[in-house]
Amino acid sequence: MADYDKGNIFARILRGEIPNDTVFENAHALAFRDIQPQAPTHVLVIPKGPYRTWHDFARDGTAAEHSAFVQAVAAVTTADSVEADGYRLIVNNGDNGHQDVPHLHMHVLGGRPVGPMLKRQG
Ligand code: AMP
Repeated sequence: MADYDKGNIFARILRGEIPNDTVFENAHALAFRDIQPQAPTHVLVIPKGPYRTWHDFARDGTAAEHSAFVQAVAAVTTADSVEADGYRLIVNNGDNGHQDVPHLHMHVLGGRPVGPMLKRQG
């Protein structure tokens, strides 16, 4: 993982250097509350491995890691009881995707209507 920055904030959370509000954890994934929530439920699900983007994870992750990630997202929506009313999953990737933290994370947003997916610009 040549381009993975081991100093990024989520890597530091995984090493226990920074606290987090954990919602769910399994062997290969961690889910914790976003520090600046944009909805009543705003949880980030991350793989424990050093993956920067979705395409890195898809290409280099193992089947066990992929399965654990999917299971963790489902565990979050169950834990926060957002399945019945619906929720949104977002993964920002790279510059055009406006990814701020260079460790793959899926946003789980719910607890209120979250509006249209993208704002029109220009
Ligand atoms: P993104 O723009 O997709 O990279 O989103 C990064 C997210 O990480 C933002 O929603 C931040 O609020 C969130 N974030 C940054 N630092 C922390 C932290 N220490 N604990 C929890 N969430 C964080």
